[in-house]
Amino acid sequence: MAQEVEMEVVRPAEGEIFDIELDEDFLRRNRELSEKNRQILDSNDCTAIDVLGSVGAGKTSLIKLLVRKLKSKHRIAVVAGDLTTELDAARIVEEGVEVIQINTGKECHLDANLLKKAMEKLDLQKVDVLFIENVGNLICPTDFPLGSHHRIVVVSVTEGPHTVVKHPFIFEDASILVISKVDLCQAMGFGPQTLREDALRINPKLRVVETNCVTGEGVDQVVALLQL
Ligand code: MG
Ligand code: ZN
Repeated sequence: MAQEVEMEVVRPAEGEIFDIELDEDFLRRNRELSEKNRQILDSNDCTAIDVLGSVGAGKTSLIKLLVRKLKSKHRIAVVAGDLTTELDAARIVEEGVEVIQINTGKECHLDANLLKKAMEKLDLQKVDVLFIENVGNLICPTDFPLGSHHRIVVVSVTEGPHTVVKHPFIFEDASILVISKVDLCQAMGFGPQTLREDALRINPKLRVVETNCVTGEGVDQVVALLQL
């Protein structure tokens, strides 16, 4: 728990928006587009899974392993969001599934309009499961739902013990928390328990899975939770 210390803190009042970019119309427009995306996905019987996490958390590794497990059973496509590179998309293409790269430029998150544009490049009639790798960021994707059916947040133990408490809002809407790189707990000097407890305090409905993407441990559990 954070200790009470005396200092001046600048924070928004209830309902006040500090960030001039986060104008309300803008957020409402995103929400409307996300609802439209969901309708399009549902009418094509396509399940979309938004994967969130910091840079280096292990989003791409998790998606790769999920694709490998599921591709014999489902037709899969992946949308990979990144500021400027195609590194992650290239790693997923190796699995033999269709990948649409979205380069957001300076945008630090995907929004519903960007996903809509990526979806237009796919024949969704032929896609059962759509994985969306969001830009590596645990802050603003909170305000930009995409229309996906599931939100998985990936937090690796190598980020240290405070990733969850410092990004509480992202866990409120998420359905699954993946604690990745649990094989490195000993080197980090703490266990996944702290991350798990912090996340469940924020969202008691969150399902938590520990993974090691080197051995593939935990990935079956993620598949089971996604009911795929
Ligand atoms: Mg990645
Ligand atoms: Zn952003």
